[in-house]
Amino acid sequence: MSDKVSIALVQGSSCWGCFQSLVDIHLRLADVLPLLDIKFWAGVVDFKHSDLEGYPEKSIDVGIFEGSARTSDDVHHLKVLREKCKTLIAFGSCSCFGGIPGLANFSEIDDALATKFKTRPTYDNETIPSENLPTIEPVILPNNEIVDFDIFLPGCPPTSDLIHTALTALIKGEELELPPHTVCHYCSREKKETPLPDVLKPYQGKADPDRCLLEQGYICLGGSTWGLCEGQCVNKGATCRGCFGPVPPIMQDQGATAISMIGTYAPLEPELLKEKIKDPLGLFWRFSYATSHLGHIRAKREEVKNE
Ligand code: SF4
Ligand code: SF4
Ligand code: SF4
Repeated sequence: MSDKVSIALVQGSSCWGCFQSLVDIHLRLADVLPLLDIKFWAGVVDFKHSDLEGYPEKSIDVGIFEGSARTSDDVHHLKVLREKCKTLIAFGSCSCFGGIPGLANFSEIDDALATKFKTRPTYDNETIPSENLPTIEPVILPNNEIVDFDIFLPGCPPTSDLIHTALTALIKGEELELPPHTVCHYCSREKKETPLPDVLKPYQGKADPDRCLLEQGYICLGGSTWGLCEGQCVNKGATCRGCFGPVPPIMQDQGATAISMIGTYAPLEPELLKEKIKDPLGLFWRFSYATSHLGHIRAKREEVKNE
């Protein structure tokens, strides 16, 4: 056992997609698993949270936290994981930046709960469930504002190749060096620095397969997004939605960078942008609103309200 890397995997509020991506390293798991001593992974083995709490401080080599801290339990488990692990990894864009759940910060939590439980045609009960449940945090704070992390592995989800690279480095005791390039760096499409002609939806027109999608009017966030996926969408014909978050230093404002990039290209009238971009929050900050400047103002407002 002592030659193995001990590891604990904890899930906050998440869709389990990141852990699924870990399992998706397929046959390479056969190389990796024998070198890991899994101390805690409640989603896979019948561990209890008290098991994690029972480990001595810093007795586990690596902790991996998936998801955001939406509930009081998530906040508690994140703090316990930090206490027990020498190295802590923010795993996936929910864990790194608040992810898609962080978009709920745009609303007051009572409005978000009412939308979820009182307006859905598939849910008849008018009550908001609370029995035997942890309390819901009023806003999702970025996890790195709750505890310190050593490594950020973004992605919604991180690719299996990236996960395999990270696990291999950890097992070998090597430093994990992640290239800092944007998605554009890996994109095979040609850029000619021409102004944007219009703003198009992905289903409008017929995109030239060899030209930059943004320069053709399709909003692509490749220039403001960390390219750890190696451009897997743009090289297959789809725009980048920004799921790997901002480039290092990764707590930059990804949405603001994307907007400023479009601004440098586009002598487009504000009225046209307003008409064509119906959901700027979901388009530019889909994965990183909680860590953005606007997101911080929102969190501060909540803090002041509770003083
Ligand atoms: S980052 Fe994406 S895949 Fe991972 S838990 Fe969050 S929503 Fe799911
Ligand atoms: S903006 Fe998008 S399409 Fe254009 S070069 Fe960058 S990644 Fe490729
Ligand atoms: S190209 Fe963009 S949206 Fe697609 S996986 Fe990479 S970062 Fe995510």
